Amino acid sequence: MTFPDDKNVQLNRKPSENARSHAENMCHQLIGAARLRLSLFVWEGFFRPLKPVSCENGTLTLSAHSEFHCNWLKDHYQPLLDELCAEETGGLGVVNLVHRPELHVKDETDVAIEAPSDLKGQPPSTADAELLPLTRSKPDAPKPQTRLNGRYIFDNFVPGPANQMAYAACQAVVEHPGSQYSPLFLFGSSGMGKTHLLHAIGHATLARNPKARVVYMSTEEWVNEYILSIREKRFDAFRAKYRRDVDLLLIDDIQFLAGKSASQDAFFHTFNELHEAHRQIVVTADKYPHEIEGLEERLRTRLSWGLVADLRMPDIETRIAILDRKAQLCGVTLEREVLEYLGTHISSSVRELEGALLRLSAFSSLTGQPVGLADARSYLKPLLRKASERITVNKVIDLAASYFDVRREDLLGKSRQRQITLARQVAMTLCRVHLEKSLPEIGRAFGGRDHSTVLASVRKIKANKEKDIGLQTTWRRLEKALLNTET
Ligand code: ADP
Ligand code: MG
Repeated sequence: MTFPDDKNVQLNRKPSENARSHAENMCHQLIGAARLRLSLFVWEGFFRPLKPVSCENGTLTLSAHSEFHCNWLKDHYQPLLDELCAEETGGLGVVNLVHRPELHVKDETDVAIEAPSDLKGQPPSTADAELLPLTRSKPDAPKPQTRLNGRYIFDNFVPGPANQMAYAACQAVVEHPGSQYSPLFLFGSSGMGKTHLLHAIGHATLARNPKARVVYMSTEEWVNEYILSIREKRFDAFRAKYRRDVDLLLIDDIQFLAGKSASQDAFFHTFNELHEAHRQIVVTADKYPHEIEGLEERLRTRLSWGLVADLRMPDIETRIAILDRKAQLCGVTLEREVLEYLGTHISSSVRELEGALLRLSAFSSLTGQPVGLADARSYLKPLLRKASERITVNKVIDLAASYFDVRREDLLGKSRQRQITLARQVAMTLCRVHLEKSLPEIGRAFGGRDHSTVLASVRKIKANKEKDIGLQTTWRRLEKALLNTET
């Protein structure tokens, strides 16, 4: 990991590139957020096709795909767009709608905005024919159509102890498709990187063999297509399509097959045929196969025939590395302190972690201000309020006293013994970083010390933490203990 040396340079911008990726991020976030507020019809027709133009001086400019759409959106949804933009940036920003025809060329390859998960239950908007030939480019198509998200590649995935096994398994599948690693079953709770790895397998397989017929589908898409094929009396075509014409079948969130017996049956047969033909199957779910209720036993058994690997929440080091990588991808450089702050406080899912980062980078691009720790804290406040409300000065003092094995009275007293001084300084710094207390308030709580003493301690600990690995470890352990305390 690299971090800027000069602490005052918190954000390195390459103006045009960064502005573009900020606009892209903002547009992506906004479209995602809009999905939850609109009917599918309006979202698909008007919001999903929006393209980022720029993001500067408090204004996010988006292009609609025709003059008509642009005007219609202005007439009906300008307030909602402004509201969503303000929400995404924590209170700043308006949306300016324009129509730029050149941004709406037919090639969707690089855009790859992933539909929010609740949309995946809807029939795909593209013609069925487009779902399969991910690689069979039409003669006039400049690039092959792909439904794989271009950002979800192995290179952008940060492995760590919590996902190492799954990561390695995915790579093994690319190396040896259809071998003893089929099916590969990836499981873990939401936001742990399952979909990311699934797409990464698709990309890597295509990179090795551009002719490979790769199909990525959410389980809901599978079910919908199956139902449609029955309704439209073309089940044979559906069946042939998935049983014959697929080299790599990537199915996301198989838990949604629960309770749908006809679709399960169809999937079961497809699975068997592909398996017998030594085709690779990769499936994800939120649980271990045998824990998915409403899934037939014979299917559960088959799903655990090959390799089963889980993804858990990455540890703090990996979380910071992920943030660093994501920041790089969005073209912002955040101070290490900010990365650590986010990494420490957000431990629910990688998706949340990424959301926080995008929010901060969007904020900084709209205001043109670099992001510092104070901004990170204030913009994440609504998210983090719960955690920080549980922490009190007293808790910090007790925690530091027990960690350093010193008495509480000594910590608050006048002793200058090394261990006690260190405990006191670390505790004051923890209060400064994690509680919104002023220096004088902290001073008073620590046996009536002067605010300048607190300030000197905080500076010292922060500086030493940069060089002293032991202190870094101590700091992380204390933070972890502090943030996990239940009231
Ligand atoms: P899931 O499918 O398990 O719910 P996703 O694959 O959608 O989770 O991941 C959520 C977000 O977190 C994605 O943007 C993904 O890129 C990111 N992510 C998860 N794990 C990692 C990781 N180890 N390295 C980089 N990004 C990750
Ligand atoms: Mg997923």
